[in-house]
Amino acid sequence: MRLNNKIALITGAGSGIGKATAIRFATEGASVAVVDLSKTDAQKTVSKIENLGGKAIAISGDVSIGVDAESMVSSTVDVFNRLDILINSAGVTARNALSPGSNPEEIWDRVLEVNLKGTYLISSYAVKNMQKGNGGSIVNLSSIMGLVGYPAGIGGGLNPYPPSKGGVIQLTKNMAIDFAKDNIRVNCLCPGFVETDLTKSLTEDPKIRESLENRHPIGRLGKPEEIASAALYLSSDEASYITGVSLAVDGGYTAQ
Ligand code: NAD
Repeated sequence: MRLNNKIALITGAGSGIGKATAIRFATEGASVAVVDLSKTDAQKTVSKIENLGGKAIAISGDVSIGVDAESMVSSTVDVFNRLDILINSAGVTARNALSPGSNPEEIWDRVLEVNLKGTYLISSYAVKNMQKGNGGSIVNLSSIMGLVGYPAGIGGGLNPYPPSKGGVIQLTKNMAIDFAKDNIRVNCLCPGFVETDLTKSLTEDPKIRESLENRHPIGRLGKPEEIASAALYLSSDEASYITGVSLAVDGGYTAQ
C-alpha cells in the first residue's frame, strides 16, 4: 500500500474530487480526516471508508474561517497524533456557492475566501504541525482555470474563479520554496472539467457538455478518481523529489 501508516486531512471530502481522494487514500493505507462544510456528506464519506475496512473521522467546518481551520488540524492530530498529508480540495464557483441575486462584491469575496483564503488558512496550521514532526506533503486543488482563461460564454470575463485558482498556484510555489527545508513538499493539481457537483449545472446541458468535451483532446470530461490518482502520486514518497509543481490533469486541455 502506498500510504501505509500515513495521516491525511482532506478538505471538501464530502463530495467530488475530495471524496474520491479520501476513499483512494484510505484504501492505500492512510487514516483520513474527512473535512467538509456539510457534516452529513463528511459522515457519508467516512461510512464508505469504514465499509471498505479503512480508518476515518468526520470533521465539519468552514475552511474560510480561521478558528474552524485551526480546529480541523488540531482535531486530526488529537485523534491520529500526527499530520502527514493535507489535500486542499474544498472549493466553490460563483455558480454553486451563491444565490442568483448576489452582487459582484459578495461573489468575489466568497469565491476568494473559500478557494484561496481557505487554502492559506488550513495550510498555515498544517505546516506548523508538520514542522514539529517529520515534514509532510500538501496538495492544493488549483484548476486549468488557474493557467488559462475560461471559455467565453460559460464563465469568461468578470469571474473570480480563475484568479482564485491562479492565486493557489502562486501560493503553492511560495510555500514549496520556504518549507522545503522542513521536508514539506507542496504541489498543486490543475484539473480540466471533471464530473462532480461543482460542474453539474454545466454538464447537465447537452450543448454545453458537448462543447466542453470537445475542448479536451482526450474527448471526454475527467472523473474524480483520475484526479485522486494524481493526488495519491504527489502525496506519496514516489514523488519525494517533486515540490512546487502545478500538474495539469486535464485530458490535454492546456496542451493546445
Ligand atoms: P464539489 O462541489 O463536488 O466538492 C466540493 C466540496 O467542498 C463540497 O463537499 C463542499 O461542501 C465543500 N466545501 C465548499 N465550501 C467549503 C468550505 N468553505 N469549507 C469546507 N468545505 C467546503 O467540487 P469538486 O469538483 O470536487 O472540486 C474540488 C476542488 O477541485 C475545488 O477546489 C475545485 O475548484 C477544484 N476543481 C474542480 C474541477 C471540476 O471540474 N470539478 C476542475 C478543476 C478544479
